[in-house]
Amino acid sequence: MALRLFNTLAREKQDFVPLKDGHVGIYACGPTVYDNIHVGNARPLVVFDVLVRLLRQQYPSVTYVRNITDVDDKINQRAADRAISIDQLCEETIERFHADAEALYVKAPDVEPRATHHIAEMIAMIEALIAKGHAYEAEGHVLFAIGTMDDYGKLSNRTLEMMRAGARVEVAPYKRDAGDFVLWKPSDDNAPGWDSPWGRGRPGWHIECSAMSAVYLDKEFDIHAGGLDLIFPHHENEIAQSCCAHGTKAMAHYWVHNGYVTVDGEKMSKSLGNFTTVRDALEKHRGEAVRYALLNAHYRAPLDYSDGSVTEAKQALDRLYRAAGDVSAAEVADADFLAALSDDLNTPLALSVLHRLAKQANQGDRAAAASLRASANLLGLLTQDEASWVRGEAQEGALSDDEIDGLIEERQKARAARDFARADEIRDTLSAAGIALLDGADGTSWERQS
Ligand SMILES: [Zn+2]
Repeated sequence: MALRLFNTLAREKQDFVPLKDGHVGIYACGPTVYDNIHVGNARPLVVFDVLVRLLRQQYPSVTYVRNITDVDDKINQRAADRAISIDQLCEETIERFHADAEALYVKAPDVEPRATHHIAEMIAMIEALIAKGHAYEAEGHVLFAIGTMDDYGKLSNRTLEMMRAGARVEVAPYKRDAGDFVLWKPSDDNAPGWDSPWGRGRPGWHIECSAMSAVYLDKEFDIHAGGLDLIFPHHENEIAQSCCAHGTKAMAHYWVHNGYVTVDGEKMSKSLGNFTTVRDALEKHRGEAVRYALLNAHYRAPLDYSDGSVTEAKQALDRLYRAAGDVSAAEVADADFLAALSDDLNTPLALSVLHRLAKQANQGDRAAAASLRASANLLGLLTQDEASWVRGEAQEGALSDDEIDGLIEERQKARAARDFARADEIRDTLSAAGIALLDGADGTSWERQS
């Protein structure tokens, strides 16, 4: 099935053709690790995880690189506010990030480079930009001179004039052009810094991704992914740095951007304070239901998030799990499903195919059930068997499956010994923990209420 992707650079849907036969290189901008991620940050993780799963199915070899930005002024500030070391802040934020991603069934990328491990490559790239006349040093800073690149602004479709007008009112005096951006900046004793030809300092954000993508993919590679808000300035500047340093016409050939997660129509963001952290979402909802909710709109469209949207996703998953039952996954996904996904990742259409297959499965069509499971798996859904889905996931600190089974056994013994007070007490304990007991002909089964 030929994959088509909307390429921000071309402003249209295009057939995807990799640069090298049989191999795809994809880079996505990862988190700046100063705080826990929110649901808006989780959307690109899930969407590009689906894209990578689809690519792996279609190409023999895929290299997925998603970086970690572990040097940033927001990190310095947060570590100071919390009176902990930058290392400690980064380590605990990365650990939580990995746990959040895993809970949403997002597979780890092939490479997850950290910016601080690649300072030497960034310095080399900045030196190349200076040597080629695209960058200049001023007061310990190194700046990229946007006027030296003919087609600067081509990704975001902005002219130099628009970008100058958009630059902050207070332009640093050492900038030759208001739109010039920082490649390197000086560090005082309190900020992390590395020795460089321009003194002790640290890299700007944009140069990190240019350097790391070249190390792990190539000077030119296939797909660069990220959120819509990264098109300008971040991705525009990545292109400027990479193309000018390497003397290439392109950095990535396809630029893929996901739309915003909104709350009551407004962009979910840290600054507006209308965000739900993934951690908080996972306390109320199953990870798979949050994932489903994040795939319920086309990735380029806004996606309105609410507890209600995840509850509906959970109910949709209940229906799919019931329909798939204990049937194992087919070898291949459904053709209509693949066609929907291959058409610029049309996940709402792909999900509707799953429900059509579920309907057929409910009418006794076991091939449809097997196809349903294979197709859903490609979206990272229906990851478990029906019985464990019905039982639910144990929350942190809650009763484990074994503990619940143990209490049920004890209750049965109490009933057999006619100790009804103890039996009722156990039922109340389980009920308080959100466990419903279903006494049936062949014993007692249970499920977690969520
Ligand atoms: Zn980036």
